[in-house]
Amino acid sequence: MIYTCYEMIRDCRANKPEGWSYFVTSYVPVIRKLLAHYGAGDPGALDRVLLACRDPESSLFRSLEPAPERWFVAELRQKVLAELKSPAAEIEIDLETVADALQPLTMLEKQAAWIETMRYSPAETGPMLRVAAQTVEKVRSRAAELLRGKVDAWRRSLLEDNGVALGRTAAAAGTEDCLSVKTFLDILDGRMTWRGRETLERHVNSCWHCIDHFCRMVEVVETLRGVQPLSDQEAAPYRKLLGIAEQKRPFWKRLAGGG
Ligand SMILES: [Zn+2]
Repeated sequence: MIYTCYEMIRDCRANKPEGWSYFVTSYVPVIRKLLAHYGAGDPGALDRVLLACRDPESSLFRSLEPAPERWFVAELRQKVLAELKSPAAEIEIDLETVADALQPLTMLEKQAAWIETMRYSPAETGPMLRVAAQTVEKVRSRAAELLRGKVDAWRRSLLEDNGVALGRTAAAAGTEDCLSVKTFLDILDGRMTWRGRETLERHVNSCWHCIDHFCRMVEVVETLRGVQPLSDQEAAPYRKLLGIAEQKRPFWKRLAGGG
């Protein structure tokens, strides 16, 4: 038997220590990586995020059915951002204005522009979208000019400054026609392409909920790259923080390693 994210979600929902133990070992490193990107200079953030995940009232696992890891991490990312203090932007811009301004861009260009709200540089964004960093830079300059034409007050960092608020609005704006996680995963894994799927592409091209969702999925792929689980010793303080009953050895290691 292989213990995966599916089993973890099931066990955490049932409040079994093996689920929570696996969560700490496997996902504290992921939360750390996300915090390093989004929450630099907020030393209490990791504990807050973990406690928020564990809290039975606002548990991450409450609203989740057993799901593929990448979907889980995309949701975990939302949980991390929800726990971070985000000061209001000096110049505010709403999603409607962004959608109106960026309407002339193609789907891929919109993604390149949107990932700027997630604070990734062109050099970081290029590999996520499999395009050159210079292409991302060019698209973002064009997006900035398009925005400039729609607002009274402007600065180049408008998308980044308003990133958290825009992300929240987009995440809440899903419709019945929105693409399923499975479709996004099929596209990311190359089981499916946009080619010949005009209806899907047309929807995503005009739906900022789907653009945000897709961008968060490509972010997850990058975030999970090279992440190593915690050692038993490293995980101990977090298990203690969450009040997880001690197990002699993590049982998935027992299952994997025999003795
Ligand atoms: Zn949609």
